[in-house]
Amino acid sequence: MATNALARELRSQGRPIIDLSAGEPDFDTPAHISAAAIAAIHNGLTRYTALEGSAELKAAIIGKFRRENGLEYAPDQVIASSGAKQSCFNLALAVLNPGDEAIIPAPYWVSYPDMVRLADAQPVIVAATIEDGFRITPRALQAAVTERTRLLFLNSPGNPTGATYSRAQWQALGAVLEQYPHIIIGADDIYEHIYWGREPYVSFAAACPSLMDRTVTINGVSKCYAMTGWRIGYAAGPRPVVAAMKKLQGQSTSNPCSISQAASIAALDGDQDCVRRMAQAFRERHDYIVAALDAIPGLRCIPADGAFYAFPDASEAIRRRGLADDTALCELLLREAEVAVVPGSAFGAQGYFRLSYACGIDTLREAVARLHRVLA
Ligand code: PLP
Repeated sequence: MATNALARELRSQGRPIIDLSAGEPDFDTPAHISAAAIAAIHNGLTRYTALEGSAELKAAIIGKFRRENGLEYAPDQVIASSGAKQSCFNLALAVLNPGDEAIIPAPYWVSYPDMVRLADAQPVIVAATIEDGFRITPRALQAAVTERTRLLFLNSPGNPTGATYSRAQWQALGAVLEQYPHIIIGADDIYEHIYWGREPYVSFAAACPSLMDRTVTINGVSKCYAMTGWRIGYAAGPRPVVAAMKKLQGQSTSNPCSISQAASIAALDGDQDCVRRMAQAFRERHDYIVAALDAIPGLRCIPADGAFYAFPDASEAIRRRGLADDTALCELLLREAEVAVVPGSAFGAQGYFRLSYACGIDTLREAVARLHRVLA
């Protein structure tokens, strides 16, 4: 937030800041999806829907899970919300009581710990470093479990690292979770389609079918269809948990936007070529930026399998410049290189920073040249 405020201030002074802090695709929503929304307005789909999303949207979500993930859900196991963020929030509030614990692998998406705290529960952070490929080990997971653990958030490909778990890696974590039936798993698949790993993408519940009745799978249209502003996410899982999530949503925001629901049906049921094209563009940028950052003195950057973030280890750069921490480094990069990135400590990983490559390659090249100038 502090870096962001400074970026805005410098920009208002006329400084040519390159902002690589955003967490959203730079593409426009595909035309056939927008057209479905316009048709929905003309057809009068402007009233309340069922609070958990229309029957048509739920059918599209069920079809997506069956087709792409091999997961079978009934309509009463599915809820659409105003973004995957609300799906995660609903889940945390639905399953956590005061004093409960929720395990969050770090580096983590910034919102998970605060959602847990909002439920008066305790986030328990399990750290993974660049040496681990930013994936937690079964042993570290096991060590974090107590009798108060109620929830585990998983996120693959992950924000902010792009790290992705394979089927075998999911199954190794699953073997630990088998021993603790009091833990619900929240598997956040929001970056599923921005993925170029060697193995086919696998969702946690598909890799660990015996844990299907304890897993809430979360996804949405924001990232893969360039629909961040439309606010549609969804979740599917065990009936009692989904029923509690519905109760929460029913007494707070109620149904997600009816027009966005119509657009999301077109997204999920329509031609998926747009998804492949965007993922390919992200991959090309990934290949460029990872190599370019790794070549900058004081930075170490490893390849990721997905998402659209690079997460270099900057501890050497911080040490060389005699800086206090990653926040000080990001402030220096903003002031001297005029490039805005987010300190790793915001994601529970001190000494790193997150750079979003959801922008054109020319902008990335210019940003790299500036970072090089300041850090070399
Ligand atoms: N989960 C992760 C890991 C994210 O990075 C984000 C957005 O940044 C979300 C969920 C929320 O996505 P939505 O826009 O659907 O609320």
